[in-house]
Amino acid sequence: DSWPRSTGLEYDDLVTILTETPDSEKARAWSQYYTSGPHLAGKNLSQALWTKEKWQEFGIENSLIVDYDIYVNYPRGHRLALLEKQNDDKEESEPDWSVKYEATLEEDVLSEDGTSGLDNRIPTFHGYSASGNVTAQYVFVNYGAYKDFEELQAADIPLEGKIALVKYGGVFRGLKVKRAQELGMVGVVMYSDPGDDGEVTEERGNATYPNGPARNPSSVQRGSCQFLSFAPGDPTTPGYPSKPGAPRQPVDHAIPSIPSIPISYADALPLLKALNGHGPKASSFNKFWQGGGLGYKGVEYNIGPSPENLALNLFNDQEYITTPMWNVIGVINGTIPDEVVVLGNHRDAWIAGGAGDPNSGSAALNEVIRSFGLALQAGWKPLRTIVFASWDGEEYGLLGSTEWVEEYLPWLSASTIAYLNVDVGTNGPNLRVSAAPLLNQVLIETLELVQSPNQTTPGQTVGAVWNKHISTMGSGSDFTAFQDFAGIPSLDMGFGFGAKSAVYHYHSNYDSFSWMEKYGDPSFEYHATIAKLWALVAARLVETPVVQLNATEYAVGLRRYVESVKAKAKSAAKALTDVELDDTFEPLDTAISHFHFAATIHDALAAQLLYDLYNNDIPWWKWWEKVKLYYAIRRVNTKYKLLERKFLYEEGLDGRPWFKHVVFAPGKWTGYAGATFPGIVEALEEGDEESVGRWIGIAKGLVEGAADWLEEE
Ligand code: GLU
Ligand code: CA
Ligand code: ZN
Ligand code: ZN
Repeated sequence: DSWPRSTGLEYDDLVTILTETPDSEKARAWSQYYTSGPHLAGKNLSQALWTKEKWQEFGIENSLIVDYDIYVNYPRGHRLALLEKQNDDKEESEPDWSVKYEATLEEDVLSEDGTSGLDNRIPTFHGYSASGNVTAQYVFVNYGAYKDFEELQAADIPLEGKIALVKYGGVFRGLKVKRAQELGMVGVVMYSDPGDDGEVTEERGNATYPNGPARNPSSVQRGSCQFLSFAPGDPTTPGYPSKPGAPRQPVDHAIPSIPSIPISYADALPLLKALNGHGPKASSFNKFWQGGGLGYKGVEYNIGPSPENLALNLFNDQEYITTPMWNVIGVINGTIPDEVVVLGNHRDAWIAGGAGDPNSGSAALNEVIRSFGLALQAGWKPLRTIVFASWDGEEYGLLGSTEWVEEYLPWLSASTIAYLNVDVGTNGPNLRVSAAPLLNQVLIETLELVQSPNQTTPGQTVGAVWNKHISTMGSGSDFTAFQDFAGIPSLDMGFGFGAKSAVYHYHSNYDSFSWMEKYGDPSFEYHATIAKLWALVAARLVETPVVQLNATEYAVGLRRYVESVKAKAKSAAKALTDVELDDTFEPLDTAISHFHFAATIHDALAAQLLYDLYNNDIPWWKWWEKVKLYYAIRRVNTKYKLLERKFLYEEGLDGRPWFKHVVFAPGKWTGYAGATFPGIVEALEEGDEESVGRWIGIAKGLVEGAADWLEEE
């Protein structure tokens, strides 16, 4: 039998190993290791080396460290104070300020939470924020979303020269700073409002961590303020790898030039209260206002600006350096050299802990690799190649994964079937998935193979308790370079929290092992469960002779996306009538119908070939018929492998050429949320008719091209 197939182990036996090996106690041990001390990007070499050695111990001998030299900041100092002018009447002299409130900028040290009190704990700060020392009146700008700022401008609220006080939520934090900066604001103070970030709900009660599941008032969300919509990765090397000696580009368009700091709601409270009675209330004019959670503490959520005798002093001191970062890469070679599946998780965290983000995923990855290692020991050799990645520098801007994709782009383009990302493996019990449509089916099928840790009836699978929702690929984790830059179908999954579960202290000291043990996943069962799902999706993609991607799902997705774009076109400023709409979108609609037809035929052919392979009774002397079958499978697989690449547009999106995918991109002004057909949507938002037509043309050309190519012999 000449079909290249995996050897040494029946598929069912492989599945048994991958289902039975991941172990909650082992995951607990890995979690404890990763979360025992600081492991900020570029400052975690010992963990990189440990990870590599563990993988080798598990049987992945071909594990190595791949490093890049990346431009980042580390915190040196900061201050935030609310100041009151003392000599208001003496206009000619320098103002004499007294301190009304000095922010702590520190999270409480809790005896119940070991890493919250480490001497070398990481200060509260923003990745890629600018150094600066500014004193100015301040304005409450709601979420700091593009539309919030539009409302403020429409109401003539002075923004220039002021400091923005902004709530976390809604849009990626770096985009809040970007817009504030564009409008001439001089600094940004960002806080976690319990109204958005979960303090008290009926289910949770009002006891705050560590005494209960509600948010600890001193907790601070660190995080990156890179502009995201420009390009992820090292801001000095957009599109090419940050190898030592690589040329470096200016960074002004990629990271902020005004200082920003994150604070807790405990520190925000006096600042918000000082705005009471100044300027309009957010609730009175801001359409996008959704309430705040500090009303019960006396905050009225006025916009301001603060009166002239009240100002903030914001001081931020960041050290900027170019420094090594370390990905760990492990490879199991398959029989087919140019068909590859990549699995990745980041290792770096903002804090000593990171028990949820990212090390629940890191613990799971180790269990995935240990399971595949046991299969290798049992004599297995996979059909396709598997690559495992432990990324560094995700938190600052997907640094390690982006540089790696940029470096190995030719090889990845030629060989990769899928990228499977797990960032937060678990911080609660609710499965969350996003996926490229090509991967929908393999994902859904796999969810049925694994028992759910929370069962309302015995035997319930993860799929049975799942909300059945697959989100589109936006941004915010390491799949971005694979999906949006390289055109590799990707998925991202993990168990998340809901209204009934404990509040997750995202990017705070309290995303700790102690929190995880007490509230997040006390039995570590969800850690083991995400490991099983991850390994089984990979196994199916690696082992099934006919690649398990589904093209029809892509066509169905395209149809849905284009309908939602039309809905946007209808509500846009220069709204189109139904007839105009049909005319404008007709070329794209037709191309999608064509693609749908081609995709259906391709999937049917794939199913037929798989059936033939398993059910053929071709006698040995008709060997050429077998050869024909194998070549047919190989051709079908190559088309599956390269299909997503057909949606790349070499010139990239307008104003952000790094993003090459015409169907998926992070929202230009939302960041995390995925935009579909971003070129068309952005042109619509700008009311630029010519550009709408151009982008419909580009999309149509690529969809049509993909359909023709699928149909080619
Ligand atoms: N996951 C990180 C965050 O949300 C990085 C996001 C990014 O820079 O794309 O802060
Ligand atoms: Ca780069
Ligand atoms: Zn993460
Ligand atoms: Zn994170």
